Amino acid sequence: MCNVHLSGHKILAASIFLLLLSSAMGACSTWNTGPGLPPAASTPLQRLMRGNQRFVQGKLIFADASPARRAELVKGQQPLAAIVACSDSRVPPTLVFDQGLGRLFVVRLAGDVVDKAAAGSVEYAVEHLHVHLVLVLGHDDCGAVKAALHPAADQHSPELSAVIHGVQPAIVTARGMVGNLLDNAIDANTRLQAQRLRELPVLSKLIQAGKLQILAARYELDTGRVVLLTGK
Ligand SMILES: [Zn+2]
Repeated sequence: MCNVHLSGHKILAASIFLLLLSSAMGACSTWNTGPGLPPAASTPLQRLMRGNQRFVQGKLIFADASPARRAELVKGQQPLAAIVACSDSRVPPTLVFDQGLGRLFVVRLAGDVVDKAAAGSVEYAVEHLHVHLVLVLGHDDCGAVKAALHPAADQHSPELSAVIHGVQPAIVTARGMVGNLLDNAIDANTRLQAQRLRELPVLSKLIQAGKLQILAARYELDTGRVVLLTGK
């Protein structure tokens, strides 16, 4: 079931989304005129949010999915951002942000769990592909978070248990919060996974140098919107 309850955190996040969007639109006064080309002066975050706005409105442009673009990418990739997202089939980052081939470096694991391989993948994107923005994307109705809220360890394989264990610290955090437990757990988990990335020595140095931003956000199943989460 989709959660359509507009809790306090969503109102706050929605306000931030609108502020960012209005900022992005303001910065886009000198748009390139080619079909689907991103605005020249926009930041990676603004380009993501602009793409999400198209997705919400049902105006996908699939800007860079042409054969010509495919041929161009044979030479290499320069993605504008790395996205850490859940494997949930309802939350495909390339569609959600309306980005074509070669635009997003995507790491997907159930519950957004940042294990060693996921962390290494993000480090690769940052160090070798020179990505300056990492966005950890949680979502409504996340099955991995629900499983961690109601664990039945004796029924899970060690592999599935690893996913649940990766989320569990967020459950502890959420149980101490006011409001909807599942909503709080989902956001706490997204923040937790983002924080795990921030604490990696390689990434931490770049953050301190002002060369890397790691943000947490939530995808709303019903609206299609991505809203940034405040705090850590
Ligand atoms: Zn999920």
